[in-house]
Amino acid sequence: MIDFSLTDEQKALQELARDFAQNEIVPVATELDRAGQFPRDLLKKAHKLGLLNLTIEDAYGGGGLGWLDSCIVGEEFAAACAGFTTAANANELALTPLHLAASEDQKKKFIPPIAKDGGFAAFCVTEPSAGSDVVGMRTRALKSGNEYILNGTKHFITNGDVADLLTVFALTDPEKKHRGMSLFAVPADLPGITRRHMGEKMGHRASDTAEIVFEDVHVPAANLIGKEGDSFRVAMETFDRTRIGIGALGVGVARASLEAAVKFMKERQQFGQPIANFQGPQFMLADMAIKIETARTYVYYAAWQVDRKMPYSYATAIAKAYGSDVAMQVATDAVQLLGGYGYYAEYKVEKYMRDAKLLQIYEGTNQIQRVVIARALLKD
Ligand SMILES: Cc1cc2nc3c(=O)[nH]c(=O)nc-3n(C[C@H](O)[C@H](O)[C@H](O)COP(=O)(O)OP(=O)(O)OC[C@H]3O[C@@H](n4cnc5c(N)ncnc54)[C@H](O)[C@@H]3O)c2cc1C
Repeated sequence: MIDFSLTDEQKALQELARDFAQNEIVPVATELDRAGQFPRDLLKKAHKLGLLNLTIEDAYGGGGLGWLDSCIVGEEFAAACAGFTTAANANELALTPLHLAASEDQKKKFIPPIAKDGGFAAFCVTEPSAGSDVVGMRTRALKSGNEYILNGTKHFITNGDVADLLTVFALTDPEKKHRGMSLFAVPADLPGITRRHMGEKMGHRASDTAEIVFEDVHVPAANLIGKEGDSFRVAMETFDRTRIGIGALGVGVARASLEAAVKFMKERQQFGQPIANFQGPQFMLADMAIKIETARTYVYYAAWQVDRKMPYSYATAIAKAYGSDVAMQVATDAVQLLGGYGYYAEYKVEKYMRDAKLLQIYEGTNQIQRVVIARALLKD
């Protein structure tokens, strides 16, 4: 039996997230974007309502929910402000590797201060010379007695400047390449860590993005997560899950773009009538709706596969690439439908267009998603 309906719990969660998004995020979204301001208080409020860290086990303060639930909330948040949503989702991205690979004691120690007490965490993989090519990283963790000495630079790290906890990927044995990569839970206040806000971004300006430099940082060996040399797998398994969230953000941004276009087309008069009367713009609207409906359905389908622990890497890559491509196309069309007004901040669609762009880039560019999809197709 196929059942496309949400459960009563999911409908309630959607309503809670929608209320919060429309009543709390929307009124401040333009200002957060303009000022490039991290929405600390608003995130704390979302945390109090149980709208953050949804997929993290409830035993450690998370929501104990599934990825479909997380996608439902992500769409609502992103329809209000994608930058807020990126900041909100960064915790889940950073905690998922702990959820996957940490011991019981490590989970008890590192997850509750974030998931239960409302702290912030950041996921640290990307480096100046290692983006898509994660294994090209230069950050090293050298074992010394009962510590590891961490040296290197991470950049483009969401919440990097505000995080209490960093989940850091580093090479413990560079010769072994991806089999020499290890994961550490690193308190952000350890001596030797410097953080720098990375300047003006095109979009998602409410989220913090930082460079983090590690200079002879002494990390207790007890903070090694999982086995030494086993963390490339953990990083990939993390992305396999979290990237559906980006597809859901795409659906949210695209939905907000469509709603803005519909409203404008009904109001804007040209040639003595609303532009909604013209078939050309109507067809554009219909195509936007087709893309959004199919993207949402596929995002839900991919999340459903993850929640059922089916093989899902292929589906989540499609959901991420398609959801974010749809966001870019629909937001661009919305700007076009608003004409010159679409080019101005007051009408919001230019923000949606700027925000949509990042969705095609982070958590694996859409070219890399296509590499994943093609590999699955060509596998013997
Ligand atoms: C605002 C923001 C927030 C971010 N947050 C985080 C975070 O929290 N944590 C974190 O670790 N990282 C984060 N990132 C990093 C992000 O995941 C990387 O930017 C992304 O993976 C791409 O890496 P890159 O920028 O180095 O581009 P590159 O890898 O240098 O790619 C440049 C271009 O080459 C293409 N390309 C590269 N290799 C291939 C290939 N094999 N086949 C086809 N095309 C290829 C890419 O698709 C892209 O078009 C963030 C980035 C941004 C901008």
